[in-house]
Amino acid sequence: MTAKVIPVADHRYLNAVPPIPPTLETASGLVTDTLARPLRDLRISVTDRCNFRCVYCMPKETFDKDYAFLPQTSLLSFEEITRFAKLFVAHGVEKIRLTGGEPLLRKHIEKLIGMLSGLKTPGGRTLDLTLTTNGSLLARKAQALKDAGLKRVTVSLDSLDDAIFKRMNDVDFPVAEVLHGIEVAHKVGLGPVKINMVVKGGMNDREIVPMARHFKGSPAILRFIEYMDVGASNGWKMDEVIPSSEVVRRIHAEMPLEEIAPNYPGETAGRWRYADGGGEVGMISSVTQAFCRDCTRMRLSTEGKLYTCLFAAGGHDVRALMREGRTDEEISTAIAHLWRARGDRYSELRTVDTGGLAQAVKKVEMSYIGG
Ligand code: SAM
Ligand code: SF4
Ligand code: SF4
Repeated sequence: MTAKVIPVADHRYLNAVPPIPPTLETASGLVTDTLARPLRDLRISVTDRCNFRCVYCMPKETFDKDYAFLPQTSLLSFEEITRFAKLFVAHGVEKIRLTGGEPLLRKHIEKLIGMLSGLKTPGGRTLDLTLTTNGSLLARKAQALKDAGLKRVTVSLDSLDDAIFKRMNDVDFPVAEVLHGIEVAHKVGLGPVKINMVVKGGMNDREIVPMARHFKGSPAILRFIEYMDVGASNGWKMDEVIPSSEVVRRIHAEMPLEEIAPNYPGETAGRWRYADGGGEVGMISSVTQAFCRDCTRMRLSTEGKLYTCLFAAGGHDVRALMREGRTDEEISTAIAHLWRARGDRYSELRTVDTGGLAQAVKKVEMSYIGG
């Protein structure tokens, strides 16, 4: 059976340069949006390229040899990224996650990590600096990432079964190499490694229990993610979403689970632990239990567009501000202004409408703004 592919309109270019308000302000370490959510997390996409073609993210039919990835000159330089990061930290950002595309494909990524790890919050603390990767280059790079100041990694892994894994990454990449990468990351001190498994009904849902069993009692924390309607090219259908409640039910039937309290208010993953003390698993219920109310996240795309929501149709071209020579104060004021105007809560609206919004809203690709 071939997957239904919806052609992508190129929304990367529908982006406006944000206005600079006439009264400039100094960042106070706290800026809140229209729903009183503070700006606390920044996800930075460092490349739109990837060596995988995961069927739910960069299906081959769209991301083929003719696909126009961003030219090198469009990418934010490490100096530009660090300058943005510094402005965000002054507004209260405490956590920065590097993503992509595949972030480990960006040349000299450890140099960027070194630059970011030197930043301090207004209270004098170092940042929670992490990275999400498909794990393919992790064994090779883990030590350099650690040495540069990275705190932890999250590895995406959808199956332990080599045939299913290869079918999902669609480039014949063997699962053993990702497992080796996870081991090395743990050894060099990039733990606890979080493992993200996107569950797509009919594709890898039979891997739920084997994955749980494999990571039970290990130092890694496995999290199950509901397959989301991000982007416009994965042909998302509600009936391919396996709700977290079903994931819990299947694991619980073999290895009893009990729910535990979140680590902090607004944690995106629901936490469950094995009744026999075998550690915990996380459930990221982005479709069935939206967490927009606690969403404190801004996204900076590879070419310097800011997105206030994963499902936004357009971004705000802050790179243009930087490249036209605006001052830190001007750019910082523009960022604060964008956050204050934010009212996004796409997943909550979609939940109410049970997927009805999914095809109606034009969305940007996840590989472009980062997951
Ligand atoms: N390439 C890296 C990786 O795969 O970890 C980082 C970028 S990837 C876009 C970030 C995360 O988004 C991955 O964990 C991936 O599984 C997840 N993701 C991509 N498409 C998704 C979808 N349609 N629904 C849910 N998660 C998705
Ligand atoms: Fe690449 Fe990550 Fe998307 Fe897979 S999920 S295609 S590894 S960016
Ligand atoms: Fe945040 Fe938008 Fe996701 Fe809601 S839908 S949790 S506002 S990124």
